[in-house]
Amino acid sequence: MNHPQRVPRIVVVGSVNLDLVLRCEQIARPGETLTGRDLQEHFGGKGANQAVAAARLGADVWLIGRVGTDGFGEVLLQGLQSAGVQTRYVQRTPGASGVAVIQVADTGQNSIVVIPGANGCLTVEDVQDASSVIRSADVLLVQFEVPLEAVEAAVRIAVESGVRVIVDPAPACRGVSPVILRADWLLPNETEAEALSGIAVVDRAGAERAGQQLLQAGAKRVVVTLGGSGVLLVDSDGQLLSAQPFQVPAVDTTAAGDAFAGGLACALAGGASDAEAVRYACAVGALAVTKHGAQAAMPAADEVRRLLEQQPGAGCLQGVQG
Ligand code: ADP
Repeated sequence: MNHPQRVPRIVVVGSVNLDLVLRCEQIARPGETLTGRDLQEHFGGKGANQAVAAARLGADVWLIGRVGTDGFGEVLLQGLQSAGVQTRYVQRTPGASGVAVIQVADTGQNSIVVIPGANGCLTVEDVQDASSVIRSADVLLVQFEVPLEAVEAAVRIAVESGVRVIVDPAPACRGVSPVILRADWLLPNETEAEALSGIAVVDRAGAERAGQQLLQAGAKRVVVTLGGSGVLLVDSDGQLLSAQPFQVPAVDTTAAGDAFAGGLACALAGGASDAEAVRYACAVGALAVTKHGAQAAMPAADEVRRLLEQQPGAGCLQGVQG
């Protein structure tokens, strides 16, 4: 990828959470009290994860979101700032911050309860107040963990100003406004592709059909991410392309999709072609699964550059025989 003249600017509209991870022998059953092993706090939320991914790769990243006035709110803001994310448009909202309580058993089973808290209070006005930074961006990146009206408002501002829009439609949901679906890039994983298109995605053929359907629904390009099997791209002409994954030792697949989205945004904002950007994003997603955690696993630009050099054939888009 060529280096841009100026630092690429990415605006993310999305969620900020504190993940409280309780490790225990087994998941507590209803009515049961267990003694756990330990409690860890991790920064999370798809918006924050993707913002941190892009910032670690060197982009100028601005997050539009909300945290609470509780103690977690301050911790979350500081976490974003120390990761290099601009937080001028992350407001404090009275009450609780977004929190995910995650029980992880020794067997690897988990159970997760998410309290959206302040994330659920993000408004259209919040987004409009930040319209000047959206207009100044190279790429707008959004997900679905904040109210969709706010997401839609951001997409409208970006489209009016010719700013490219990447939509990561996660978590999976139905009834999404066509304005949001008409993104330059729509990045569903298999579950999300199924929820958005209504087409069962149980194999690659299903992913292809769902991708085509989402293109017809207005998306300009659809990338269905397939975890350890790479990606499928339906490009703006309806052509099907796929890329083999980078070969890496996977230890924790948490936030691979967030890494991919942050990597794609960074590459496109920096002037990469579509094919270069998809390859770059695949490398960022792959590196994220080699480490534990979400934000802690996001790679730096040097690590990505090395992987791109080491595996020249991986992540390269090739036509799919239809
Ligand atoms: P999500 O977290 O949204 O479900 P995926 O699991 O599909 O996202 O991962 C996003 C991308 O990250 C994949 O398309 C792939 O490029 C990369 N990736 C994920 N898991 C692996 C893996 N085990 N090996 C190599 N690359 C991976």
